[in-house]
Amino acid sequence: MPSDIDIAQAASLTPILQLAQDKLGIPPEALEPYGHYKAKIDLTWLDKQTAPQGKLILVTAISPTPAGEGKTTTSIGLADALNRIGKRTLVALREPSLGPVFGMKGGAAGGGYSQVVPMEDINLHFTGDFNAIALAHNLLAALIDNHIHHGNELGFDSRRIVWRRVMDMNDRALRSTVVSLGGPGNGFPREDGFDIVVASEVMAIFCLATSRKDLKQRLGNIIVGYTRAQTPIRARDLQAEGAMAVLLKDAIKPNLVQTLENTPAIIHGGPFANIAHGCNSVTATNAALKLGEYVVTEAGFGADLGAEKFIDIKCRKSGLRPDAVVVVATLRALKYHGGVQANDFNTPNLAALQQGVSNLERHVNNMRENFGLPCTVAINHRTTDTQEELDWLINHMGQLGVQVVVTRHWAEGSAGAVELANTVVKSIESKSADLQSGLKFLYQDSDTLWDKMHTIATRIYGAANISADAAVRAKIDKLQADGFGHYPVCVAKTQYSFSTDPKLIGAPSGHTINIREVRLAAGAEFVVMICGDIMTMPGLPKVPASTRIDIDDEGRVTGLF
Ligand code: ADP
Ligand code: MG
Repeated sequence: MPSDIDIAQAASLTPILQLAQDKLGIPPEALEPYGHYKAKIDLTWLDKQTAPQGKLILVTAISPTPAGEGKTTTSIGLADALNRIGKRTLVALREPSLGPVFGMKGGAAGGGYSQVVPMEDINLHFTGDFNAIALAHNLLAALIDNHIHHGNELGFDSRRIVWRRVMDMNDRALRSTVVSLGGPGNGFPREDGFDIVVASEVMAIFCLATSRKDLKQRLGNIIVGYTRAQTPIRARDLQAEGAMAVLLKDAIKPNLVQTLENTPAIIHGGPFANIAHGCNSVTATNAALKLGEYVVTEAGFGADLGAEKFIDIKCRKSGLRPDAVVVVATLRALKYHGGVQANDFNTPNLAALQQGVSNLERHVNNMRENFGLPCTVAINHRTTDTQEELDWLINHMGQLGVQVVVTRHWAEGSAGAVELANTVVKSIESKSADLQSGLKFLYQDSDTLWDKMHTIATRIYGAANISADAAVRAKIDKLQADGFGHYPVCVAKTQYSFSTDPKLIGAPSGHTINIREVRLAAGAEFVVMICGDIMTMPGLPKVPASTRIDIDDEGRVTGLF
């Protein structure tokens, strides 16, 4: 197989104005082109279109190995295959984070013959949205220190400022810093630090906001710090939200690009899947549902985190309702859950597969029983997979009433995912009786924050209980008493296990989920429960991917993957 970037550069792209007109009926005046192959869609034009009518397919995954099991690649392959069988389909994805492109993970624009293009742009600056988000975030940070410098009328306790700074780079040196050094003219020195842009609350707000008005409202609600009496101080108190919304004025318009097979792709927003909810923007998903019969979208991490938050956070308030779920698995990851180490992923091992399938079973049951959604398993085929292993899996899951489809879009493009497309369409058109009632939420708004977390832990993670030390428990009770109890809970935990221990593979049960820390995101309107270590500013590995990335004299980029 040629490399991802070689495949992407050989693609035959349709000029974006033509693609928009021919495939989506968007007139040129409703588009703002960024070069020939990227455009933003005008929000006013979108508002005038009929209500969202398409069917929404959520792509999620089993608990992955660190390499990723192929949600993005499968979302793209499935959307291409749906078009191939005559269903007018768009794919709606997150914008990749710039920092990790230079690290270990590489880009996030799909792979093989299922990619979105131009991948060099999508993986790097794209249309500048993340830069705008960083500026809006950092404007607020500058306003805080400036306010303190000029007399601190609001009474900031400089030890209790919770608004850090952001940059879109994996830079561990900036995790903890001291600002305002150098004398009285530079303000009052205090401890500070940087997060990566995708961890910014502005990113989460950007993705959940339903209009410019809602965006401004939420930006104003951000809690940036506390007084000595521990009264919250909000962005609104600094009159920051108007200027922040101005910096985001173009960013909030969804970006239109295409796949290798010229399927329209809307790529917009990209919050972290740990301290935020990990899905693309509500605006983009709604736009796609207005423009196509089918929309394929992806939620970050495994289904215990990504799909749960997609439904309980993103869908709850926006009115979005998925019609079907695709759970992506690989034989490699299933064998990993059966105890196989990375070096042996490619060796056939039926016994390990039989052991590790428990992970898949739990994710599928969660989707069907807890959320009431029809669910198809897509085995993202890798060249080392054996027929014996695949047959066993198809037969085993079949006995549980679950359809498993082996899909080869990575190697073959849409042709390799036709069976998956047909199966998903069938599952939507003929929802079985027990799933007829449609989407269920896991908990009610009126449940307490503690009970919400308990429900997620026991019903989704298979835990026996949850715990928290006295200080954390008191903070949760205080949030409840202060009127934030109706917010959904956004869990931050490892994606590698149903527990908080990344090494606890398969489908563990009886464990306890310990809440280590709790954070209020008053603008995004959720309460983050941190269970385990979380990283808001990643670092680079010893040999970063950047060492292989280059550009030649003709301007051709190499080494991106
Ligand atoms: P996720 O969205 O779940 O994190 P991606 O779709 O980004 O996963 O895929 C992770 C990586 O694996 C990408 O580099 C992609 O090119 C590669 N990949 C995906 N599917 C396959 C496959 N079937 N065979 C080989 N590599 C694959
Ligand atoms: Mg992905």
